[in-house]
Amino acid sequence: MPNHQRNYRAILERNVGFDGNTRWLRYARRNGFKEVKAERVRRCPDCGGRPKRKSWGQYVYFSTLIHLLECSRCGLVWSDARIDPGLVRRQFEVMYNGERYFRFSRRRIFGHLARVIDDLAPRGAHVLDIGGARGDLMAHLVERRPDLYVVVNDVSASGTKAATERFGFPTITGGAQALDEHERRYDIVVLSDVLYFEPDIRRLWSALDKLVAPGGKVIIRVPHRWALIRLWQRWFRATRSRARQRLQHAIRFFNPGHIFILRKDYLETRLRQLGFQRLRVMPSPLLAHAGTRVIDAVAFAVAVVIYWVTGGACALTPSVVVVGADRQI
Ligand SMILES: [Zn+2]
Repeated sequence: MPNHQRNYRAILERNVGFDGNTRWLRYARRNGFKEVKAERVRRCPDCGGRPKRKSWGQYVYFSTLIHLLECSRCGLVWSDARIDPGLVRRQFEVMYNGERYFRFSRRRIFGHLARVIDDLAPRGAHVLDIGGARGDLMAHLVERRPDLYVVVNDVSASGTKAATERFGFPTITGGAQALDEHERRYDIVVLSDVLYFEPDIRRLWSALDKLVAPGGKVIIRVPHRWALIRLWQRWFRATRSRARQRLQHAIRFFNPGHIFILRKDYLETRLRQLGFQRLRVMPSPLLAHAGTRVIDAVAFAVAVVIYWVTGGACALTPSVVVVGADRQI
């Protein structure tokens, strides 16, 4: 047996998900699989419930075969393998060094979120941005509202260091555990595109319980593509042979870097448990891509009109902003 083939066999034995199955050999070789450490997640990371029998689908990420499982109890959808955190962290550090990502791609999203926070924040309010990276969103916010006191949190030390150096913001470095141990309370806590990256989501909810002041608000931005994912997956299963389905390596409309799909019902239940009396789900602008600026702006404007016409019942953008307000504890 040639050496390179033997290596791929060994990788398929060791890496999570493949169970040494040689039907993946060609794919592994073509995609230059590497040995990757990962842990299988068999129970719901939030409530500990069992998954429904049928997975939402499977995909390959970091040479690991991962399934999307749905909790039969709380409805959370999770990826059933955790890639070595060191590997994932390095990828984040690279992303944070991409100035363009923050300056250009996310500018519209930050602008929109800053307006939402501005509307909700009382004078002199304390605002915590969880997963706030280099502080760009908070910089947008204090430009509109210099009266607000803002704190930036991130797992990335280089992110929070940049937030302090660039804007002078106080910071908290670390994930759910650091937040859970933090003593202060805030009038507004923002989680923009971060909830689906936190492996210990249960602890993050418990941290939120301590972080949000009575009467306070939480603002969460998440993707809103689960119906599309399910629809495409149904189509995939109806039109592909069994053999082809067993070799599924991507789930359309799902970003393999995310470890959760957070559906509206799951979020609403969780926020009600935390005592938020008023909930809203609003359309959010798209990431900007060169050349699609006008189309994106028009699509967002249409989504906003539909949102208002349906009395706030229908948010059609690929991402939404969920607001929990009037917290009673
Ligand atoms: Zn669960």
